[in-house]
Amino acid sequence: MHEINKATAELQEEMAQRIALNPGGTRRIGNFGFIELEETWGDEATIINTARISTTNQRLRSGHEFSERDRALLYQLLRDQHGTPFETVYFRFRFIAPIFVLRQWVKHRVSSWNEFSMRYRKPLSVAYVPDAAARTVDGFAVLDEAAVAEYEALMAQLFAWYEQQYSAACDRIDLARETGELGPKKGGRDPYRGRVRELLRNVMPVAAYSDVYWTVNFRSLMNFFKLRRKQDAQYEIREYADAAFALFATRLPLLAETMQRVIDESAPAAADAAQKSSGNA
Ligand SMILES: Cc1cc2nc3c(=O)[nH]c(=O)nc-3n(C[C@H](O)[C@H](O)[C@H](O)COP(=O)(O)OP(=O)(O)OC[C@H]3O[C@@H](n4cnc5c(N)ncnc54)[C@H](O)[C@@H]3O)c2cc1C
Repeated sequence: MHEINKATAELQEEMAQRIALNPGGTRRIGNFGFIELEETWGDEATIINTARISTTNQRLRSGHEFSERDRALLYQLLRDQHGTPFETVYFRFRFIAPIFVLRQWVKHRVSSWNEFSMRYRKPLSVAYVPDAAARTVDGFAVLDEAAVAEYEALMAQLFAWYEQQYSAACDRIDLARETGELGPKKGGRDPYRGRVRELLRNVMPVAAYSDVYWTVNFRSLMNFFKLRRKQDAQYEIREYADAAFALFATRLPLLAETMQRVIDESAPAAADAAQKSSGNA
């Protein structure tokens, strides 16, 4: 990834702190991002138990108790898209990502979002800068070093402008308080400084970073993996989706393996259907 400059060092520090809190449940995304699987609710047994509601009162406690019959049922439910049992298992991820990645991610509407707000805090003072892997297509660098240097300078200019304007506005507010033009600060959020942040965040580029809690059920997560781990998904969100998949697979290996099997088996059929519908069959 791109060299670590002062700004990216701040991001690295933030990520290092979170990784230290949950080393097994976190992943760095190259040198530019971070994802954590904070919590899961339910597992393979939850899916099988709910699917058997009409047939048996047997209740499995975990996937470790699975017989061949249970494994076969899990596969069959996934293959035949019996959706609702897969909605009983939940995941909460937390990730730090550039806003352009978030704009793609948020399109996965069947999920719950809670995002860092630049109304209350200054933005992480770092912008996403594409590294060699991100700007190379089939061995060809689509942006050269000079273009990347200009891109980086442009971003630095925006962030510096934000800082200067925020600091200047705060000085003006403080002065107005001293002269009595504005009343003294009351407890809680300062409405004047708050309004400055609200307005200045408008200049932040989509390369700026945000921080998100993402809560999603397994059915929707599977849809996310199918769409965002594919080669035609944009490189950056693909990196996040692959890391999310790796964390999920560590926590629920049987479900991950069965889901991957179904996706792999359905891929040739889907490609065939696409070819037929395009009249090339
Ligand atoms: C490679 C790629 C390129 C893309 N390009 C664009 C783009 O150019 N512009 C753009 O806007 N988006 C784009 N998208 C986003 C895409 O259109 C989907 O919004 C996104 O992938 C989320 O998928 P989803 O709707 O299945 O997920 P979710 O929103 O989580 O929905 C899950 C499922 O619920 C059902 N559902 C949800 N909402 C509705 C609804 N309103 N009506 C009926 N059924 C619903 C559907 O069955 C859906 O599959 C792109 C996605 C990919 C992977």
